[in-house]
Amino acid sequence: MSSDKLTDIPVLRERGQNSMFCGLTGIIWLHRKIQDAFFLIVGSRTCAHLMQSAAGVMIFAEPRFGTAIIEERDLAGLADANEELDRVVARLLERRPDIRMLFLVGSCPSEVIKLDLERAASRLSQQHQPQVRVLSYSGSGLETAFTQGEDTCLAALVPELPQAPADAAPDLLVVGTLADVVEDQFMRLFTDMGITRVQFLPARNSREMPAVGPNTRYILAQPFLGDTARCLEQRGATRIAAPFPLGEEGTTRWLKAVADTFGVAGDRFDQVTAPGIERARRGMARMREQLAGKRLFMLPDSQLEIPLARFLHREAGMELLEIGTPHLHRQHLAEELALLPAGTTLSEGQHLDKQLDRCRAARPDVVVCGLGLANPLEAEGITTKWSIELVFTPIQGYDQAADLAELFARPLLRKAKLRV
Ligand code: SF4
Repeated sequence: MSSDKLTDIPVLRERGQNSMFCGLTGIIWLHRKIQDAFFLIVGSRTCAHLMQSAAGVMIFAEPRFGTAIIEERDLAGLADANEELDRVVARLLERRPDIRMLFLVGSCPSEVIKLDLERAASRLSQQHQPQVRVLSYSGSGLETAFTQGEDTCLAALVPELPQAPADAAPDLLVVGTLADVVEDQFMRLFTDMGITRVQFLPARNSREMPAVGPNTRYILAQPFLGDTARCLEQRGATRIAAPFPLGEEGTTRWLKAVADTFGVAGDRFDQVTAPGIERARRGMARMREQLAGKRLFMLPDSQLEIPLARFLHREAGMELLEIGTPHLHRQHLAEELALLPAGTTLSEGQHLDKQLDRCRAARPDVVVCGLGLANPLEAEGITTKWSIELVFTPIQGYDQAADLAELFARPLLRKAKLRV
């Protein structure tokens, strides 16, 4: 155990076997967001199966992701994988003229055969521009948390963003995939505060990606975007430090950090945010009755764990037993860590056996975990919440505060009903 320099909260570092989806999973929400993009996984049948099961609930007439299967002869070096890839891409683009941005998504097999997807993307871009831009990023690896796929994707996008003029007025860039409904709510609040130069990364359309430069002030909407943040700073952008917009408190502090950066007067800020705060508090009063005093254990999975724990403790009154996260970005989470109660047990990384032992011993009321662990824990009588659901559901902002809390209250209610 070591002490966290920024907050002095001790962090238990775990290294061992893990149980997490890989970064390919990010395609499920990214393809919904960038509506003219296509994600071509350069991978094996295993990767295709993972995507099918992870996205299994959705039925597509024209899916915007697929897998170029690396066969055994590719793995054995008997075929020219680059030629095959060029053929697959040409066929795909011919069949789907609506595609404007194509991501080649690397996987474990493409890494094993050392297929240089960056070079392939630049070759294919030259062939298919200006209709289609081709980019690449990696979604591979048993070591990556599933949300890292979004980070590697957005980090690959940043060098492609247009340059903002050096003499342009400061503009705000909100970074991280948000549901359109949440984005619209934030946009209305910014407009009411008088902040009108606002852009989002990723944009809903590949042709509307934001410009970036030294006058860009960016704020993270998701806590798992370390590489993207680094790339934005390389282009001169400055981060606005804030907690994440989960719950009423997180949303207010997140908006306040933006308002202060753009010189919004305090009374105008209060006026704009008051109705949202009121709605969130009203919704949460009901949820607090169901969640207060309930004991929460989070196994590392989505990297949303720390902002969620802060929200569930401070606004819903839950007791935090242990909060595990795959990676702890100390700088990006400094404002969140400062809001956790003293003595919170934090762990970084995964050692499945040890963490499950601690979890069972603690007898929590709810465990937040990955899909693979939920069934065995439920079979032992432990109530679980799938962390992946938190990435697919709109949870940020005032109007989603009670819905977010309800995601945790629902399994408890179901269990109570089953007992009756
Ligand atoms: Fe494919 Fe590797 Fe992900 Fe398995 S872990 S689905 S092989 S990228």
